[in-house]
Amino acid sequence: MELKELYQEIILDHGKNPRNKGKCDKFNKDAKAYNPLCGDKVHIYLKLNKEKKVENLSFEGEGCAISLASASILTDIIKGKDFITAKKITNEFLNMIKDKTSVSNDILNEDQKTTIMSLSGVKKFPMRVKCATMVWHTFISALEGKNINE
Ligand code: ZN
Repeated sequence: MELKELYQEIILDHGKNPRNKGKCDKFNKDAKAYNPLCGDKVHIYLKLNKEKKVENLSFEGEGCAISLASASILTDIIKGKDFITAKKITNEFLNMIKDKTSVSNDILNEDQKTTIMSLSGVKKFPMRVKCATMVWHTFISALEGKNINE
């Protein structure tokens, strides 16, 4: 299977069967955002525990397949990580979308890297970049306790 096809399959899978959808148990931080270009809406819920670990993470949202897949992938990969690691992965993802780099670190296993890289295709479509990145910015806002809208 070509890499491109594999990436498409991952996005379709996450878009159709999003992981961690709904309000997670005992969340203590949240943030939401809206992308008027595409109509995507996302609301992130997370529980940061005393050890500064993202103990629980989920989202509610509606929108295009890319935005849902990105939210699903984010929650799947970040859940259980500590504050610093979560920020590091998010920054790497955003840099990967902005530049031509690929994610490279020893935090993620090969499967997780492939899953994150599946969103790299949006680089070729500037209008779709926000569909993929919005949820990651929203996650950071929730993590740091700021709300984007209202
Ligand atoms: Zn979209």
